[in-house]
Amino acid sequence: MASIKPSAHLADVRYEIRGALTRRSRELEAAGLPIIKLNIGNPGRYGFETPAHLREAIARHLHDSEAYGHEQGLEEARDAIAAQQRHRGAHGVEVERIFIGNGVSELIDLSLRALLQPGDEVLLPSPDYPLWSAATILNDGKPRYYRCLAENGHLPDPEEIESLITPRTRALVLINPNNPTGAVYPRELLARMVEIAAKHRLLLLSDEIYDEILYDDAPFQPLAAVAGEVPCVSFGGLSKVHRACGYRVGWMSLSGDPARTADYRDALQLLAALRLCANVTAQWAVRPALESAPTISTLTAPGGRLHEARRAVLEGVAASQFLDLVSPAGALYAFPRVRADRLADFDDNAFALRLLEEESVLVVPGSSFNVPHSRHLRLTLLPPPEQLREVFERIERVLTGMAAS
Ligand code: PLP
Repeated sequence: MASIKPSAHLADVRYEIRGALTRRSRELEAAGLPIIKLNIGNPGRYGFETPAHLREAIARHLHDSEAYGHEQGLEEARDAIAAQQRHRGAHGVEVERIFIGNGVSELIDLSLRALLQPGDEVLLPSPDYPLWSAATILNDGKPRYYRCLAENGHLPDPEEIESLITPRTRALVLINPNNPTGAVYPRELLARMVEIAAKHRLLLLSDEIYDEILYDDAPFQPLAAVAGEVPCVSFGGLSKVHRACGYRVGWMSLSGDPARTADYRDALQLLAALRLCANVTAQWAVRPALESAPTISTLTAPGGRLHEARRAVLEGVAASQFLDLVSPAGALYAFPRVRADRLADFDDNAFALRLLEEESVLVVPGSSFNVPHSRHLRLTLLPPPEQLREVFERIERVLTGMAAS
């Protein structure tokens, strides 16, 4: 019998963070091998707890969570998000311009689905968080990549961005603080990107899910505060800063000239209504999360677990014969690179498979982030520092083996 043919839309869609290597690692685990999994930024898996007051808020409101809610999200949660955005300097943010979703993941798809005509182009960073590419393709758009190279501190070059614009370009996506590179974009760079968006009438889409995960006082600036009247969608959520990935709560807020975004806002509302509403229960955690002092800074400050994990990674790279790294200024990852002068013939996928098979460590190859022929690997900073030190010894053994063969 003929097998059921999946949609042709999926032909170019990839999500290697949970791809073939993860499946192989599950097989190895099922066979009894303990695997060190550094592939996903999932704080709950590494002993980070969601702050108790968020959990308690949900428990208190369980009984109020049994009916469908507003398609854009609970009013009290949207109120808190709008207040946060206005406090940060975003223009024109009202509850009607806030949308809560089942994680930022759902909203990335919605924001592009409401925007794109077949063949429209979206400017994406390379490396990107690969859902951005996938959602662009699934919504009939074409990714056009601007490079964020290690040589440039993983910051984009505005001139390159501008050179990629065609009459079909509709949106400019930023991920700041960046996954996978950890780059945090300076204000002048954001201002140049806003200028480009204004000149070419592009919608700005700014994924700021790591907005408060910053090291060494990195000066994060919300794009909406720089964008003023230029239409901008800013994304945030509970998953990372509030260590509540499993709650599946994210939000997006629309800022800038309301006249220019009214039709787009209505399209978002229609799409939000088609899926009825986001998980109501978990939305009760939003207001307490945004109205209490951020707890993540105790983890990213010197002595804090994430700070010390980053130190372990920096030391592991410094001790390596093969690696270099732009020190991450934000987010939950390091994106080290295998130096061409130390190992000319390097294949990131072959390396990641060897690291898994020989040393029981799961990382994500750099090319999974839409960088062709990448020499990078991504690992999360979530494990205890001692474990990361051990991981770098294992990485070094595999690279030494590759250099010798
Ligand atoms: N955006 C970026 C840059 C991410 O790294 C992630 C998850 O890792 C997401 C969005 C999705 O987050 P959520 O858990 O809110 O769906």
